[in-house]
Amino acid sequence: MPLRRRTLLALGLGTIAAGVAGCSTGGGSSPSAYCVSTGQVGRHSRLGNARLVYDISGKPTSFRFDGGFYDQLVRWLSDYRELSGTKPPDQVWTYGSWLDGEPNCDSWHDAGRAFDLSRLVAGNEVLVSCRYDLWRNYTGARLQYFRSRYWALAASLHLHFAYVLTYLYNSTHHNHIHIDNGRSGDQLSTFSKRSPSQVQAVQGMLNHVWGQRVEISSDWNDETADATRSVLERTEHPGAVDDGTDQWRAFLRATAAHRPS
Ligand SMILES: [Zn+2]
Repeated sequence: MPLRRRTLLALGLGTIAAGVAGCSTGGGSSPSAYCVSTGQVGRHSRLGNARLVYDISGKPTSFRFDGGFYDQLVRWLSDYRELSGTKPPDQVWTYGSWLDGEPNCDSWHDAGRAFDLSRLVAGNEVLVSCRYDLWRNYTGARLQYFRSRYWALAASLHLHFAYVLTYLYNSTHHNHIHIDNGRSGDQLSTFSKRSPSQVQAVQGMLNHVWGQRVEISSDWNDETADATRSVLERTEHPGAVDDGTDQWRAFLRATAAHRPS
C-alpha cells in the first residue's frame, strides 16, 4: 500500500501526517531532503526475514524504501539481534517509510531514506516497543523492562544512523522512533555534542539502561560526560562519549548489549 500523504490525511492518521513535518531533519549544515517518485523506491514486504506490519491496521503491508537505506536497515536489524541476544522477530511494526512529499519535500521520508519503527514482535510477544504512549502507563518491573529495552534498541539505532528521534525529542515520537540516513549516509553514525537528539539519547540510556541519574537536559555537560566514563571503563575504549568515534560507538554497543537484570 503506497503511503500517500493525501490518503493518510484522509484517514486522519495524525501520526504519519505529523511524521512529514515532525520527522523533518532540518538543522543547519545537514544535507537537504528531496523528493523521489514511486519508481525510485522499491517496495518491500519484509525487513530481513520479518514481515513489515502497519501499526495503524495491524496488517502485513509493503512499504517503499531507497535501496541503500533499506540495506542499512537490514544490517541494523541483524546487528541489533546479535548485540541484544533477542530472539528473531518475525514482524517489524511501523508507521511508514517513503511518503509522496511533492512538492515540499522537507523530510527524509520523502526521499525514501527514513523509517518510523514502532515494535519488534515474535509470534504474539512484543520483544521491544517504541510505543512509549502505551508502556509509559505500565508500572514497576514491567515499566522498567520495557523502558530499558527501548533504550537498548535506541542505542543500536543511534549506532547505525546519525539522525534518530525518540520520545524525548517531541510528542510526535511518543509512538515510534524515527530513523533516517540524511546526515550519516551509508556510514555508521558519529557523535556531535551539538546534537540535542544524540545528547538526550545518551542521557536517556544512562538513566534507563545504566541506572546513572543524570539530568535529561539535551545539553552536553560534565555530569553526562563523567557518567559515560563509568560505562566506558568496562569496554575496550575507555574515556567519555565525546572523546571520539570509538568511544561513541563503544558506548552504544555496550548499551545495546546490556541485559536487563
Ligand atoms: Zn519519521
